[in-house]
Amino acid sequence: MAESVRVCVRCRPFNQREKDLNTQQCVEMNPAVGQVTVSAPDGVNKDFTFDGAYFIDSTGEQIYNDIVFPLVENVIEGYNGTVFAYGQTGSGKTFSMQGIESLATQRGVIPRAFDHIFTATSTTENMKFLVHCSYLEIYNEEVRDLLGADSKQKLEIKEHADRGVYVAGLSMHVCHDVPSCKELMTRGFNNRHVGATLMNKDSSRSHSIFTVYVEGMTESGSIRMGKLNLVDLAGSERQSKTGATGDRLKEATKINLSLSALGNVISALVDGKSKHIPYRDSKLTRLLQDSLGGNTKTIMIACVSPSSDNYDETLSTLRYANRAK
Ligand code: ADP
Ligand code: MG
Repeated sequence: MAESVRVCVRCRPFNQREKDLNTQQCVEMNPAVGQVTVSAPDGVNKDFTFDGAYFIDSTGEQIYNDIVFPLVENVIEGYNGTVFAYGQTGSGKTFSMQGIESLATQRGVIPRAFDHIFTATSTTENMKFLVHCSYLEIYNEEVRDLLGADSKQKLEIKEHADRGVYVAGLSMHVCHDVPSCKELMTRGFNNRHVGATLMNKDSSRSHSIFTVYVEGMTESGSIRMGKLNLVDLAGSERQSKTGATGDRLKEATKINLSLSALGNVISALVDGKSKHIPYRDSKLTRLLQDSLGGNTKTIMIACVSPSSDNYDETLSTLRYANRAK
């Protein structure tokens, strides 16, 4: 089981605000051994070890080649896999998942996975492939289609004996090449944003799941299906600090619920002894049920800030990530 869940930590560069405030660096890494050290304001150091440690100058290219590549290979072979980006708002989750298109080394996991999948499917002999994509958002434990006719409509999660758990009415989009996938990624991402301004919410309060379904057919007609979930989680920051009340507090409680449900599911899987895996405790874990555990692979990219200013959140991210190993 240890093999099937991999956890790495990525530390982004200092941002302008942290530079202007002249904040101290509280994160150090030894990438060769996956070690991450955080220093508390009182000077006490805490060490953690992960499957990968990516410091300020690391690239999307390195992360993909080191840890994501094998997972996507598995998906092309017909297994399910999930990549999560976890961390407080502003820590680099979206940067890691989507990245910067104009800077080749900093393209994120999602566009690299598109390249990988279409290169592989177009060069594999004796197989035909069909690729579909879907993109949804979970906000306040409500599911919405980011690529549907109406991105405000709430969708239901259903369960079917053959199909397993699925979202009724979620739109599926056939993709024949990388540009058509990217177009879907951009369109859905912008819907996430439109929702944010119109409904006075912030995209950092929602979880988004971009799913690529890779169906392969052999010459003899047997079919296999792999599913890749690319998940940009809601910000993990604790809301008590921000003095949230009313709707904001309700929202925060639901975010914390699904992030802790995810943590519980992953640690139950890693532990390997639990008979009961609590998938049903949140929409997020319920939707990902067939892609966590069993024959599937899971990667968590835990994103942190280097600044002492964010020490508390960084420590809590590392503890969360540490439970998932
Ligand atoms: P999140 O999605 O976790 O809220 P973002 O991915 O939007 O955070 O990152 C916040 C800001 O920091 C963005 O301006 C982003 O471009 C920048 N950033 C994040 N990670 C990196 C990185 N590894 N290298 C350079 N800039 C980064
Ligand atoms: Mg983001």
